Amino acid sequence: MLVPENMAISESNKAYKAMLTPIKKDGKLNADPDMLERVKTITSRLVAQAVIYRPDAANWNWSVQVIDEPEIINAWCMAGGRMAIYSGLILKLEATDDEIAQVMGHEISHALLSHTRERMSRALAMQLGITAMSIAVSDEKYGGIAIQGTAMAAIIALELPNSRTAESESDRLGIEIAAKAGFDPKAAVTLWKKMADESGQKDSRFDFLSTHPAPVKRMEELEILTQAMMPYYEDMSPKPVHPVSAGDI
Ligand SMILES: [Zn+2]
Repeated sequence: MLVPENMAISESNKAYKAMLTPIKKDGKLNADPDMLERVKTITSRLVAQAVIYRPDAANWNWSVQVIDEPEIINAWCMAGGRMAIYSGLILKLEATDDEIAQVMGHEISHALLSHTRERMSRALAMQLGITAMSIAVSDEKYGGIAIQGTAMAAIIALELPNSRTAESESDRLGIEIAAKAGFDPKAAVTLWKKMADESGQKDSRFDFLSTHPAPVKRMEELEILTQAMMPYYEDMSPKPVHPVSAGDI
């Protein structure tokens, strides 16, 4: 059972605003304009490739925010193209542009392949019977923004792992989109190596690893994909961009 796509998108829009409004009030949204600009530049090239892969996604409301949480290593893309990256991923991993492109390409791919919608459906099924609780939570946590049902499912979905198959599909499409956008496929492997190496740090929260386990096996598979992606990366033709906004929270 899948939440219908138009509903997944409209409810994710609500969820995005509800999640990010209190973060903005706390002064933790896009606090570093240079970091935001960097992430926007990278994602606008990725989205240009995403909409070639899936033309209807050209109508999505693509946007990205940097959440200023230097301890948290995470990033996500909701149904409909609403993205966020936590500053900890960039700072703690000392992530290069190529590595940021790999993590965002991977997350964009989950949205393009409707994995995000599938997780929302699972979250909605889990939620049945706890609606009253979610309304109570929303008053406190989401600054009084009424959020329930499918919109709450969009938030819960961000913390649910995908299936191993969905992960492999997103790894493959993500590295391809990034390569076509001119980002080095080898960065997919170095990104995961950094995550694995750093994951012992006590002062970091590896939220991304809790939804994305088995980095060693993943690195082996990405290593194999890297070779196939090199021709896309080495193609020097101009790289298109698609607008990605950051200003509607
Ligand atoms: Zn994933």
